[in-house]
Amino acid sequence: MFDFSLAQARDALRARKISSRELTRAYLDAIEKLNPRLNAYITVTPERALAQADAADAALAGGQGKALTGIPLAIKDLFCTEGVRTTAGSRILDNFVPPYESTVSANLLRDGAVFLGKANLDEFAMGSSNMTSAFGAVENPWKRRADATAVLVPGGSSGGSAAAVAARLALGATATDTGGSIRQPASFCGIAGIKPTYGRCSRWGVVAFASSLDQAGPVARNVEDCAILLGSMAGFDPKDSTSADRAVPDFAAACARGVKGLRIGVPAEYTMDGMSSEILELWRRGLGWLRDAGAEIVDVSLPHTRYGLATYYIVAPAEASSNLARYDGVRFGHRENGEDLRDLYERTRAAGFGAEVKRRIMIGTYVLSAGYYDAYYLRAQKIRALILRDFTNVFGRVDALLTPTTPSAAFAQGENMEDPITMYLNDIFTVPASMAGIPGMSVPAGLDAQGLPLGLQVLGKPFDEETVFSVAATIERAAGFTTLPAIRAGA
Ligand code: GLN
Repeated sequence: MFDFSLAQARDALRARKISSRELTRAYLDAIEKLNPRLNAYITVTPERALAQADAADAALAGGQGKALTGIPLAIKDLFCTEGVRTTAGSRILDNFVPPYESTVSANLLRDGAVFLGKANLDEFAMGSSNMTSAFGAVENPWKRRADATAVLVPGGSSGGSAAAVAARLALGATATDTGGSIRQPASFCGIAGIKPTYGRCSRWGVVAFASSLDQAGPVARNVEDCAILLGSMAGFDPKDSTSADRAVPDFAAACARGVKGLRIGVPAEYTMDGMSSEILELWRRGLGWLRDAGAEIVDVSLPHTRYGLATYYIVAPAEASSNLARYDGVRFGHRENGEDLRDLYERTRAAGFGAEVKRRIMIGTYVLSAGYYDAYYLRAQKIRALILRDFTNVFGRVDALLTPTTPSAAFAQGENMEDPITMYLNDIFTVPASMAGIPGMSVPAGLDAQGLPLGLQVLGKPFDEETVFSVAATIERAAGFTTLPAIRAGA
């Protein structure tokens, strides 16, 4: 049961070799067994899942199978799910049961998916390790070869989604990426994940972090499975004014296209002090695979890359401070009673938000305040435009870019926590694409000396996810990455 990829499970379901009930039951049993340790799910919804599985089996029996009929998925707990608690990993939403379904999750349900439950995440998607979740850390199912006792982080913020997929506690999962939260956990957990172009998926019903950056996307075992999921998740939505009114291409077909004749750029700026030589070596190997498959490799420069992280950590907190103003304990969510209204607000927010969220609200409020707006927020917006211009210039000459996804493999719980900047450095290679709104995908490409997975990142032109999929699938085929994590269902 657990060896099926999403595409294989779909075919087996359609051929009626397995039933969705059997498949869903197997996944629920595995969650029951492994989730107490991994903590990849905050909420598991077995009854709902089995009811959806039975409906899927009935549809399949009638020859009514859709793209995802009967496929068990995990939903990041940032997507509102009607009648199912949605926490955003925060104490301030620990009792929030949305009366509506996010567009992305509704699209998946429309296509027949089964929802196993809600995946853990960093609080309000702020983090790179899942250590900031109010519902506890997530354990990465991978282990260091030399030290099986170290508990590694799955990355963040979509760490629960990535750990669930890697440990085979779901066939795929929704995730979101504001500055790297799909790509970095995918890389740390040895799976694939794509942040599509800003506007490709609706943000309606996704708890907002930084609205000009937030994008939904899938994580799954392989590139084709991501393509199938994105095909369902994406699409124009009149309820999100930033959603793009564009046809959704056949992403899965693009995976088979190959890279012959494509020009792949290698940006000189995607290195960092202290970066492991194994990652640089893997990057070189990845370029070799693409060359062997018929692509031309071109050296390029994205000179404003070095300002990416600093500007992201101004823009994202600024938007967060504004978006999170709504959590006041009055209409929904957690409430602490106070002596008067102001006291109620203060007590609610003091008790409801964790330290990282408070830090971002304070940074955001500061950079937006009257005396500092021009010096920080406005300047960051100008640099953001220059980062986009770098990409636009380069995409006049190349079809896609190849870079490392992260400067390191998964680290252990407690590491990189000395100061916030050390943690923020995880995002150095992922934030520029977020700032520019372009698509980016992480594909597992190899293992480091400790036996931990490493990802390569493919960046593409706006709304050209198809080329991203074709490049990522080519790397996947050449890498032949088949190693599985130590902790997994069916092992
Ligand atoms: N790690 C980054 C941050 O903490 C990105 C998070 C995300 O993409 N949601 O902001």
